[in-house]
Amino acid sequence: MAEFDVDLFVIGGGSGGVRAARIAAGYGARVMIAEEYRMGGTCVIRGCVPKKLFVIGSRVHHEIEDAAGFGWSIPSVSFDWPTLVANKDKEIGRLEGIYTTNAEKAGVEVVKARAVIEDAHTLRLSNGRIVTAKYILVATGGTPNHGPAIPGIEHVISSNEAFHLPELPKRVVIQGGGYIALEFAGIFSGFGSDVTVIYRGDNILRGFDEDVRAHVRKEMEMAGITILTGCTIKSIEPHGKSFATHLSSGSSIAADKVMFAIGRHPNINGLGLEKAGVAVSAHHGGIVVDGFSRTSVPNIYAVGDVTNRINLTPVAIREGHAFADTVFGKRPVQVDHATIPTAVFSQPEVGTVGLTEAEARAQFSHVDIYKTDFRPIKSTMSGRDTRILMKLVVDAGSDRVVGCHIVGDAAAETIQAIAIAVRMKATKADFDATFALHPTAAEELVTMRTPTARYVREAAE
Ligand code: FAD
Ligand code: NDP
Repeated sequence: MAEFDVDLFVIGGGSGGVRAARIAAGYGARVMIAEEYRMGGTCVIRGCVPKKLFVIGSRVHHEIEDAAGFGWSIPSVSFDWPTLVANKDKEIGRLEGIYTTNAEKAGVEVVKARAVIEDAHTLRLSNGRIVTAKYILVATGGTPNHGPAIPGIEHVISSNEAFHLPELPKRVVIQGGGYIALEFAGIFSGFGSDVTVIYRGDNILRGFDEDVRAHVRKEMEMAGITILTGCTIKSIEPHGKSFATHLSSGSSIAADKVMFAIGRHPNINGLGLEKAGVAVSAHHGGIVVDGFSRTSVPNIYAVGDVTNRINLTPVAIREGHAFADTVFGKRPVQVDHATIPTAVFSQPEVGTVGLTEAEARAQFSHVDIYKTDFRPIKSTMSGRDTRILMKLVVDAGSDRVVGCHIVGDAAAETIQAIAIAVRMKATKADFDATFALHPTAAEELVTMRTPTARYVREAAE
């Protein structure tokens, strides 16, 4: 008889957990996966996918506005939020089914239950079952930060609730200046809400290239979104069905919904990590892992957002796959977390890969910047007052393009392809030698010849 009930028990049926379970089963492992909410996890159920569907839907508004310049006359338009939410829910239900089916087809036993760790080899399920496992993979993801205990905090929604609102709020106040705040600002604004973003620092998108931050803010403000920086929400006072949102600056804003998008934390509460001796970082709150995603307990691994490394779906998937290759495929694989492309699906969209200008200047002694800011061809007829930003950051010593940053239509799609070149260590000469594809916006990336700025670090620095 086998020593353990299963070879691998995966806690969490999200991006990382499902990939790990399927690949491990493919190597012949007996695998069980427990999901307490819905298979597919954050990305599929209340993250990337429904968000992108909302972004696509909200952009239709701009398309309609732009149509007139091309001769279209659209006498009347109407938008129905409940239809959007219902159709989104249908699609998410379909994807959830696919996630379950694919796991089962791979030979994984899927259990709809919460799992907690009893000891390094034992799990207790919320359906009363006790399961022993040779290896445990913790892939429980993250959950929204609720924010400080200010008066009225109980009225605040997070992205979780934003996907299920019964009606479109006319006025929305969003606290935060990162991915989720800006994406939902664009979504609500596109559907017609009056949106105010409240950010505590001096400019949104901290950590992104400075030109990107400035460009996005300007464009969002031009699109009618109010961005208030250097302040926070101090209290939320109900007034009938709406709220007075009181700010640290002393002013107040009326809102029908107040949303906080102020980061997420690893989902480890009540998981029983301490019973097995799994170490958690005091610094970032995630499970501590080595390059192979192994925790402080040799047979327990952790991947994805619960480790709080880089909290993106393709990263969780890659980490889950590498774990299965390492432990069950006898092929040790470490995930290289460098040069990961990322996009913020704000409106305008941001696509970025590699180093910011500031990071490059800290790392290299000679840095060349190639930057352009231009009106897209569509705007010449639509009349929309918008500009695209494209920026290349080059280590002039090696001629390598070490960073690329785009703000504007199709930034995410473009950066996905550029990421291949950056990862392959393409030089500026390679970019220059690449033929332009005309007429596109992306052709600017291979036609910028003269640096717009050149930084040479003094020897004494
Ligand atoms: P998750 O996908 O969160 O899965 C963890 C699962 O574990 C959940 O289903 C949870 O219910 C389950 N679980 C937790 N505890 C237990 C337990 N004890 N027992 C059983 N089950 C348990 N990333 C991108 O790359 N691109 C995007 O555009 C993007 N958009 C996003 C938009 C939003 C609004 C949010 C919130 C996130 C977005 N992300 C995006 C981030 C992305 O969703 C996460 O990085 C990714 O889902 C992490 O995968 P994971 O496997 O680590 O965890
Ligand atoms: P982010 O870390 O992107 O942004 C959090 C924002 O909230 C920052 O502006 C931060 O300010 C601010 N903030 C943090 N704490 C407080 C506080 N106590 N009071 C006021 N403001 C505060 O987190 P999100 O919640 O937007 O998203 C979580 C993660 O999910 C992202 O980091 C990303 O990894 C992932 N994600 C990815 C997406 C994509 O790939 N397109 C989309 C959505 C999410 P400051 O900058 O000053 O710290």
